[in-house]
Amino acid sequence: SFHRILKEEIKQEEHLGPGTRTNIYSGSLMVKSIEDDEENGGNSSSQQVKVVLKVLGSGHRDISLAFFETASMMRQVSHKHIVLLYGVCVRNQENIMVEEFVQLGPLDLFMRRQQTPLSTPWKFQVAMQLASALSYLEDKKLVHGFVCAKNILLARDGLDADEGGPFIKLSDPGIPITVLTREECVHRIPWIAPECVNSMSSLSVPADKWGFGTTLWEICYDGEEPLKDKKLTEKERFYDMECQLATPDCQELAHLMTDCMNYDPKKRPFFRAIVREIVNLPDKYPSFKAQPQTG
Ligand code: ATP
Ligand code: MG
Repeated sequence: SFHRILKEEIKQEEHLGPGTRTNIYSGSLMVKSIEDDEENGGNSSSQQVKVVLKVLGSGHRDISLAFFETASMMRQVSHKHIVLLYGVCVRNQENIMVEEFVQLGPLDLFMRRQQTPLSTPWKFQVAMQLASALSYLEDKKLVHGFVCAKNILLARDGLDADEGGPFIKLSDPGIPITVLTREECVHRIPWIAPECVNSMSSLSVPADKWGFGTTLWEICYDGEEPLKDKKLTEKERFYDMECQLATPDCQELAHLMTDCMNYDPKKRPFFRAIVREIVNLPDKYPSFKAQPQTG
């Protein structure tokens, strides 16, 4: 159930980096726009848009079904804070997801690059936009599966006062964890939900709440990587012992984070409630004027 893009319609440019079993490139897509105004009698014209190509190489054809699962999930969503998937392209032996290019790249790198500290209201706004995207997915009973700062892209940084704040877009989760090795799953601690490490089939909406909690931690700590220097066995132990990440200074987000990072998936709050809580934060921070964001 996704739009097929012909290989002649895309152009591949710069290599942006490796993903999980994938390679990511910038590029362009030719899009036809039918102009139906009377003057040109419904002529079609085409236009180049900048895109990102997520390429699953020919060596990974065994997981192409899983790759298409992600594409089909992304095709079912339409939300201003979720990256737009234009479609899927089969180019010889390769499968390619063609997505909207998001100008300022991943949030973790952006935050780490900043010389002057990002304000608390700025962080609230990012948290709110992410929660609204995840609340939308929750309503549709769709699971993202890899919520992390690296998978949040920044369309606008909103650092100038007149820019109306930051604007994020949640990227696709890539290959679903169901086809990852156990080691790859352990590597994703502390983003992967504890219940998913030993049973990838436990992946459901509550797992995204855990990932949201971990992402709040990253936002509070300006893009720092949680459990950065830990070996895989130490990461495993971290979950076995039901440990918690360090509590951030920002109390409001810390509280949300701990609610989401509950080892019992049933006890994690609904995104709807999380959005409501973030909306109410301006009482304490008059300079933060967020609007509840829907659809
Ligand atoms: P996969 O989803 O296949 O596992 P990945 O999520 O691990 O891949 P990323 O690390 O998210 O891959 O992407 C690699 C790099 O590509 C990122 O660091 C980012 O710079 C860039 N990138 C990915 N998606 C976009 C996008 N939509 N717009 C701009 N840059 C992007
Ligand atoms: Mg990604």
